[in-house]
Amino acid sequence: MNAIEVTGLRKSYGQVHAVKGIDLSIASGEIFALLGPNGAGKTTTVEILEGFRTRDSGSVHVLGFDPKDEGQAAREWRNRIGIVLQSTSDSGDLSVIETIQHFSGYYSNPRDVEEVIHSVGLEEKSGSLIRKLSGGQRRRLDVALGIVGNPELLFLDEPTTGFDPEARRAFWALIEKLRGDGTTILLTTHYLDEAEALADRVAVINDGRIIEVSPPSTLGGRSTAMALVTWREGQEIKSENTNNPTAIVNKLSSHFNGEIPELTVTRPSLEDIYLAMIGQTHE
Ligand code: ATP
Repeated sequence: MNAIEVTGLRKSYGQVHAVKGIDLSIASGEIFALLGPNGAGKTTTVEILEGFRTRDSGSVHVLGFDPKDEGQAAREWRNRIGIVLQSTSDSGDLSVIETIQHFSGYYSNPRDVEEVIHSVGLEEKSGSLIRKLSGGQRRRLDVALGIVGNPELLFLDEPTTGFDPEARRAFWALIEKLRGDGTTILLTTHYLDEAEALADRVAVINDGRIIEVSPPSTLGGRSTAMALVTWREGQEIKSENTNNPTAIVNKLSSHFNGEIPELTVTRPSLEDIYLAMIGQTHE
């Protein structure tokens, strides 16, 4: 069974058609990233899946449950999911450890609190009041609160915004660990390198619609896109777009009789492909 199954999802806010018919199937154990510019409809989609927003139409199943249903089944379902929203408001007068302990009490099978603090790298801030944390440390606490319930499915909405590069790498390692435990993860991010490092598949969403769903390595025909070969010839940097970079490198190698000055061979990055996709569909 898929962890998430969405068909024909639509949502408008008055005249604003935020989500215009989205289909999504996310397998159990998959790490799936939603990419898209500001206002594309990512948060609306994710918050409908989390049961925090109503939908106008479409069918939604999250761990086999319709998030709009209520009652005991909803409480059991909440126990199986973890959520990191774009911004969380918690009591600034509790310490980090008190807050995580408090949240862990909501779940039937929580992770060990100390282990959670360690996995988000907040050991040194364990006793600090939340209002004294930096922005990036607050965000790490948000992630800690998302995983403390030991969820089968974790929603992460722009989880590493405000992280320094070291914290981002540590977070990626944490996600790899959760992957190893079989956790399904739905991630939204504006960092293309993050999607590339973590996601099994990405969906590019723009203006309320999904443009493409594929592994990051093949998105937008990326794996078969032309390569760009550049090198120095005297004072000049030369370049050539090609489907056959090896042939050009061989030719240049004989031309220079060995080492080719300042040789580079590149293919479009995920960011290049993504920006082209978004650009193409903008009116
Ligand atoms: P971002 O990357 O900036 O977080 P997003 O892809 O998550 O953007 P959404 O927050 O889903 O985008 O917004 C989609 C559209 O719906 C936008 O045009 C936004 O202005 C509008 N919208 C979102 N929430 C509301 C709301 N509560 N009331 C009215 N309009 C809203």
